[in-house]
Amino acid sequence: MIKLTKRQDEILQIVKLSGPITGKEIAEKLSLSRAALRPDLAILTMSGSLDARPRVGYFFNEKIQVKRQAEKFLHQKVNAYKALPIVVGKSTSVYDAIVQLFLEDVGTLYAVDADGHLAGVISRKDLLRASLGNRNLNELPVSVIMTRMPNIITINPEETLLEAAKKMIYNHIDSLPVVKEMAGQINTYLLVGRITKTTITRAYLEIMDEKSD
Ligand code: ADP
Repeated sequence: MIKLTKRQDEILQIVKLSGPITGKEIAEKLSLSRAALRPDLAILTMSGSLDARPRVGYFFNEKIQVKRQAEKFLHQKVNAYKALPIVVGKSTSVYDAIVQLFLEDVGTLYAVDADGHLAGVISRKDLLRASLGNRNLNELPVSVIMTRMPNIITINPEETLLEAAKKMIYNHIDSLPVVKEMAGQINTYLLVGRITKTTITRAYLEIMDEKSD
């Protein structure tokens, strides 16, 4: 997809509002000559952003616009959309983790070790499973029931929302810890955020709701 200039974007807005509209009318609205406008109109029609019909004029190509927005969505960086991770210590009890889950209104908690590095993932199902067989949830630490390193699927802030969506779908998980690798330390990650299926849905809505770009 080509990046539009300011003038091309103006033309697109005019056609969106007033199309079908002739080249002459667009030129008048922008106080330009038709000749000056011709190269921009050619680019917009060739790229498919605008359609032109003889004796009718230019009109807006809705499909291309939706495709542009979808592409924009998929290339957004995780960093711009990540939420705060909700964290518990590894020795936190399952009981306290359940309370935390409700208080923070999240579906997944992350366990960290004493250095603040990611140690585990505790999801709703992990907590439910632990609750079925155990009477004393106050005595049971989350470290016993969590999914731990190196089995945790992570994402880094510079990856895209498309990559995040794929990782969640292919691995059948609801969320991903956003992490930064610690230089020279294998499987040691600093936890900097979380991405959930809700994050992806929200980003999608935001971008599709934008007027045009
Ligand atoms: P829920 O339990 O609420 O359905 P998930 O589908 O995310 O939530 O979790 C299913 C299982 O996958 C749980 O055992 C959980 O510990 C594990 N899990 C969740 N997120 C991850 C992740 N990013 N990497 C590895 N395992 C995960």
